Amino acid sequence: MKPVDKAPGGGPGQGPGRLCPLCGKTEAHDFRPFCSRRCADIDLGRWLRGAYVVPDQSDTSEEGEGGAGFSGE
Ligand SMILES: [Zn+2]
Repeated sequence: MKPVDKAPGGGPGQGPGRLCPLCGKTEAHDFRPFCSRRCADIDLGRWLRGAYVVPDQSDTSEEGEGGAGFSGE
């Protein structure tokens, strides 16, 4: 008789056991899909940087405070 190959040694039970997209470690339940708060923060930081795309700051003398934005209230 062969030993049946199912869940190896009482695995986690839930979740396919993904890996942290940043460092490749096993994800932590509290920080999915990351392995730790650190990786989650890193990713968040990247995301924020990408979200807040800063347009050229070289030209700051155009439509700054002209007053053409008050329409309605
Ligand atoms: Zn990680």
